[in-house]
Amino acid sequence: MVASGSENEVVGRVEKGLLIDGQWRQAAGGGTFAVEDPATGRTLGEISDATPADAMAALDAADRARAKWAAVPPRRRAEILRRAHDLLIARRHEFALLITLEMGKSLGESLAEVDYGANYLRWFGEEAVRIDGSWKVSEDGTARVLVTRHPVGPCLLITPWNAPLAMPARKIGPAVAAGCTMIVKPAPQAPLTTAALAGVLIEAGLPDGVLNTIPTTDAAAVTEPLLRDGRLRKLSFTGSTPVGRVLLAQAAGTVLRTSMELGGNAPFIVCRDADLDAAVEGAMVAKLRNVGEACIAANRFHVHAAVAEEFSEKLVSRMSTLVVGPGTDPATDLGPLIDDRQRRKVADLVDDAVAAGARVRTGGDVPAGPGYFYPPTVLTDVPARTRITREEIFGPVAAIRTFTTEADVLRDANDTEFGLVSYLYTRDLSQALRMSEHLETGMVGLNRGYVSDPSAPFGGVKQSGIGREGGNTGIDEYLEQKYIAIDATGSAAVPR
Ligand code: NAP
Repeated sequence: MVASGSENEVVGRVEKGLLIDGQWRQAAGGGTFAVEDPATGRTLGEISDATPADAMAALDAADRARAKWAAVPPRRRAEILRRAHDLLIARRHEFALLITLEMGKSLGESLAEVDYGANYLRWFGEEAVRIDGSWKVSEDGTARVLVTRHPVGPCLLITPWNAPLAMPARKIGPAVAAGCTMIVKPAPQAPLTTAALAGVLIEAGLPDGVLNTIPTTDAAAVTEPLLRDGRLRKLSFTGSTPVGRVLLAQAAGTVLRTSMELGGNAPFIVCRDADLDAAVEGAMVAKLRNVGEACIAANRFHVHAAVAEEFSEKLVSRMSTLVVGPGTDPATDLGPLIDDRQRRKVADLVDDAVAAGARVRTGGDVPAGPGYFYPPTVLTDVPARTRITREEIFGPVAAIRTFTTEADVLRDANDTEFGLVSYLYTRDLSQALRMSEHLETGMVGLNRGYVSDPSAPFGGVKQSGIGREGGNTGIDEYLEQKYIAIDATGSAAVPR
């Protein structure tokens, strides 16, 4: 497929170098790699391929900028973030097109991602001026306890491809607000949006060296020397649980502060008394947002046996009418998956479930190319403990099982190493509260298929992660506390 003029212009405007110390520069040795459009397989452009030497240059820059940036007044940091937010919103169509071109999702979804990512910059700008400390009298009265908070220092921010604007924004926002310098390593499938985001932050006034970007095709080799260097003080990672485990082990070497936003295996529970139409609407969002390539995607549907057939039919009728096609086509509901590897994984999970006895109610066939499309698919009668119920699907496939008792469904829902989010549909308030408390996840969507919100603490328990992004505590991930013990023995005697 030939790219339209505006597509070429949007891609052409993106800086393709590495951002180090405020300059866009070529990688050491001049290497580049191609970024592909998953809807067509064509190359969108070539971007510099960072080496370990470039990563160290980025750390040198982040370390040099560290003290000066930490001393910049919070109001100024807030204003930079607010300006970057406003620039993103002013260029939301351009950013949305870029996201769609390199990641695949529909333009409508990409617009929503621009707004969502920009809101993290605005939210954390508002938090920058509210970093506080505390003061109190010690327990025995002999001291005063002063607690102050300080930027943690240079951070390494590693992000996935599935939300190439929102995922870096969710880390850059609080790091900038807290006064940290940083190195961003985007995923190689979708580095252009992150480069464009970095450009906006520079335009908004971020000083040289505060934000550095190192796209690379050799993530492990490029990040390993950074993780070994004592000048790096923090690792924030969003990606899969297996990679998170590797990075946590590496971070142990220098006892790095870590934030981990890892994989999910979300249960979507529909109780007997649920509003089924609302549950289907919620399922469409929870399952199909981001073409199903979301850590918070509904992965396992548990529907009460009494309403399972009605729910399944309604979901099939909604999913089977979706228009699958290039995200750039305004008629498209569902774009392609990110690459052939991801599509093969989704197809394998479906084939495995079908071989175990699941029934395909719609979809299930891999279409001919070009592009990595996979149809919206509904499976019913999915047996317990099949791979599709244990692994992250990361595709538009709803795997439905039934339950009859609350105890059974809670046991099933919690029977996973993951604990990111659960979705629960019921009209019974006490059941809603009881089940929400027993679901072992960091977030619960109660009669709602969408939990992403800059003002809320996003994150998981168990092997879905450590720490929270957003909300009132998101900035804490980038701050250290310092306690100053002030001797007050002289003031202990009360004057008479
Ligand atoms: P991934 O394979 O874990 O990769 C994530 C990032 O880590 C990429 O930039 C990747 O670069 C890099 N990476 C991989 N191995 C590395 C290593 N040894 N050292 C340093 N960096 C390394 O995940 P993905 O396929 O991009 O994203 C999908 C996963 O992210 C899913 O599991 C999803 O649930 C999770 N996710 C979680 C959240 C959340 O908030 N909890 C949000 C979005 C996505 P390379 O690709 O070059 O290896």
